[in-house]
Amino acid sequence: MSDLKTALVTGSTSGIGLGIAEALAAKGMNLVLNGLESADEIEPLRTRLEALSGGKVIYSSANLMDPAAIRELMQTAADTFGGVDILVNNAGMQFVSPVEDFPDDKWEAIMSLNLSAAFYTCKAAVPFMKQKQWGRIINIASAHALVASPFKSAYVAAKHGLLGLTKTLALEVAEQGVTVNAICPGYVWTPLVEKQIPDTAKARGMTEEEVIKDVLLAAQPNKQFTTIEQVTALALFLCSDDAQSMTGGAVSIDGGWTAH
Ligand code: NAD
Repeated sequence: MSDLKTALVTGSTSGIGLGIAEALAAKGMNLVLNGLESADEIEPLRTRLEALSGGKVIYSSANLMDPAAIRELMQTAADTFGGVDILVNNAGMQFVSPVEDFPDDKWEAIMSLNLSAAFYTCKAAVPFMKQKQWGRIINIASAHALVASPFKSAYVAAKHGLLGLTKTLALEVAEQGVTVNAICPGYVWTPLVEKQIPDTAKARGMTEEEVIKDVLLAAQPNKQFTTIEQVTALALFLCSDDAQSMTGGAVSIDGGWTAH
């Protein structure tokens, strides 16, 4: 088995997860990448990150809405690397609709991906971290883990739940050198945000430009999108030994949104 640390970043083929995976690779560690794309599509990324890391980088297209697929993913990580030292639960999705029209299957999908998937990955990762007496779990939550916005019932409920899981697990592993934190970004310009603009425009009867100005950035007092690089830098700090005392926290990076 390798002496390098191993990180698993879920949903690491796009947006925030990709940024964090690249930054961890640059620190020199083994990586497990995950997303919905085929292995062929991700091969150029995998080889680039492997060259950057100096370790081994593997890719799994496990659909994290399926607990059996998550167990398989975690088993692959265990078989290849012995387990994971750093777990970043990042994969997530959004759907925007008034509650009365909210499709049941979208509710279930968001609960599975944005909340239950993190339970299953943590459950599998924690025994290895406890054995090593070191571990880092970072749950990419949202400002919506702390406050609500209309038409995002499933997302807000799942992210509040993810923060509850974060706090509970932090207490359970606090004496074992394992920290568990939630990063709570405001709006970050990624494909996930770009895709929700047309639906938000429809739900609110606005133009897409009005959604960006009056809905998305209206919530952020600094009137700026948070950047992937800023979220990545925070995640790297939480992975460092200097962050050993930070656990069970909801770390906001939202331009002042949750100060309201
Ligand atoms: P994104 O849409 O750019 O990327 C999502 C990633 O998740 C992709 O790699 C995709 O392949 C993967 N994915 C989607 N469904 C999956 C599934 N069923 N199984 C496995 N992988 C799956 O998203 P993003 O904007 O980078 O968001 C990442 C996380 O950050 C999400 O949890 C999101 O809720 C959170 N977040 C985003 C923002 C924002 O403004 N972008 C703000 C706060 C929180």
